[in-house]
Amino acid sequence: MTNKTNILVTNDDGIHAEGLFALAKALAKVGNIHIVAPDRARSACGHSITLHKPLRLNKVRLPDGTHAFSTNGTPSDCVTLGVFDAVKTKIDLVVSGINWGPNLGWDLTYSGTVSAAMEATIMGIPAIAVSVASYEEDVSYDVAAEFSAYLAGVLLSHQLPPDTLLNVNVPNLPADQISGIEVTTQGRRRYSGKIDKRLDPMGRAYYWLGGDSAIDELEEGTDVKAVADDKISVTPVHLDLTGYPALDELRSWGIAGFKAE
Ligand code: MN
Repeated sequence: MTNKTNILVTNDDGIHAEGLFALAKALAKVGNIHIVAPDRARSACGHSITLHKPLRLNKVRLPDGTHAFSTNGTPSDCVTLGVFDAVKTKIDLVVSGINWGPNLGWDLTYSGTVSAAMEATIMGIPAIAVSVASYEEDVSYDVAAEFSAYLAGVLLSHQLPPDTLLNVNVPNLPADQISGIEVTTQGRRRYSGKIDKRLDPMGRAYYWLGGDSAIDELEEGTDVKAVADDKISVTPVHLDLTGYPALDELRSWGIAGFKAE
């Protein structure tokens, strides 16, 4: 491995997040690290981009003195700013994380962590999203960081199919309690009863989303099942959201016969 490899590191938990620091430190063994991350927590912002206000890049230092950039933008903006301005060299790989909390099943549609990897994929740059699948306060990023560095190395010597990124979820366990590594499909995970309705001191209603814990369908071979079994899950995620099994059905509905009057 030459040290010419350039890796852009970003996240959605913000520039001060422990997981970002752990990831950057581990990836420094694989290549040159360039960091562009949101200046605050932007979890669950999905693939939003900033179009209606100016974006700024601020030079900052991580706790060990590493140079980095923070931005007032989203994780997706970070990739765009990194590729087109902050990093003055060609980026070979984008790694997003390490997220605090799982990105499993339908979480992917909300995830800022995964969306940053999606933006890189759209640009044709190989990308990995990494999460520690736990909301405990004392999450350990050690195993996830080590695995990210390993997978980054693998990805630099292999070619992903077009329009595909890797979504990685690592159990919050010490290395000797991880029971394996599985290549998985995206499972199903939803939040039921996710609205908590309360009254403010004026008697007007307000709402909190996402109060309940997620309900996982523990189907064999899925990301949710692998993590439930204490395994590291690696899911290839494709950007094509077309529902292929529905195409023939939809074409049979006669929609193409519509004529505007
Ligand atoms: Mn997050």
